[in-house]
Amino acid sequence: MQLAKSIEEIRADFPILSTMAHGKPLVYLDNGATTQKPLQVINVMEELYRTTNANVHRGVHYLSDRVSERYEAARETARAFINARSREEIIFTAGTTASINAVAFSFGERYVREGDEILISGMEHHANIVPWQMLCERKRAKLKIIPFSDEGVLDIEAYRTLLTERTRIVAVTHVSNVLGTVNPVKEIVAEAHRHGIPVLVDGAQGIQHGLVDVTDLDCDFYVFSGHKVYGPNGIGVLYGKADMLNELPPYQGGGDMVANVTFEKTTYNVLPFKFEAGTTNFTGAIGLAAALDYLSALGREAVAQREQSLLALATAGLSAIDGIRIYGTAPHKVSVISFLPGTIHQLDAGMILDKMGIAVRTGTHCAQPLMERYGITGNIRASIAFYNTEDEVEALVKGIRRVTEMFV
Ligand code: PLP
Repeated sequence: MQLAKSIEEIRADFPILSTMAHGKPLVYLDNGATTQKPLQVINVMEELYRTTNANVHRGVHYLSDRVSERYEAARETARAFINARSREEIIFTAGTTASINAVAFSFGERYVREGDEILISGMEHHANIVPWQMLCERKRAKLKIIPFSDEGVLDIEAYRTLLTERTRIVAVTHVSNVLGTVNPVKEIVAEAHRHGIPVLVDGAQGIQHGLVDVTDLDCDFYVFSGHKVYGPNGIGVLYGKADMLNELPPYQGGGDMVANVTFEKTTYNVLPFKFEAGTTNFTGAIGLAAALDYLSALGREAVAQREQSLLALATAGLSAIDGIRIYGTAPHKVSVISFLPGTIHQLDAGMILDKMGIAVRTGTHCAQPLMERYGITGNIRASIAFYNTEDEVEALVKGIRRVTEMFV
């Protein structure tokens, strides 16, 4: 599978990749934290502010109509990208965290009672832990955890036994932001559905690495952030099945989410507007659509293949270094590699790499319970995107070698 552009053309689309950091060419391997933006996204947002800025769904005037059309076209792009059945199932939010909080609040209000159970996995990002904990505190419900193996594979047998008649919702990550594991979400959803339990999939690290088909997964909710899929900051998607969303109360009140307001009673707008109170980030939504179009034009399978080959290179190079420990060796993983070089502290290593121009993430990666599971306080994470090069992966491997030599 061939990318639609050469690597040189791709890198020219991302001007920030030619930055010099501490006098060295930047090697950006922190794509799990946020991805860089192509000119196709930057330009569309600039053009929008120059030519088509007005509030969406608010006016009968020319600009408001134009921007509303483009906003709704962006919704259609997002729908098609994840293969949702209808546009009304795509809610624009501020991002993954906002989407999960929205579901935890709204679903919790409607369905969760004292003594009920919420099931998440042990490899969740804090964004898919804390909102459920807050819900459990509010409703006196219990949070239960699906364990995983040392390799970073979810224990599906344990998952089956954790589903009880008190389980109200399962919330799992599609891809672990630390281990890179791709979880068998289709199987997880099918098993939960056998018990009539809905499933939320945290797609923050899934959306950018390949094909996401929510109809095929049959999940009830799928959430992701624009900034992790080459789009702008402050925008994200909450996909929900229409039947489910129609049953849930809105979680925020304000303009646009209403049908009729009197001081006595307010009736709510239809989907998706019922969940989009106030002026939404329409510029962000249109920028996000440009990012999704960019990936589609490049070839999503080819993107995933390129990332797999860079991951293989990084895994082989890092594994050959004496004393290295790699966290996350599941057979099915994306281009994320977490590790510790011997007993060297992750922060020391991260700072030395930075001086070499290499950007990686160090610390807990917002997954403290996962770190505890391995008995560590954090590690180093290199997260690779299709625009990274073989030379950049080599630079990381050489950099880590150098770090280990410095601490001998
Ligand atoms: N879930 C996972 C798996 C993540 O990796 C992240 C961010 O790193 C989030 C949720 C939160 O995403 P955001 O900060 O964009 O809301």
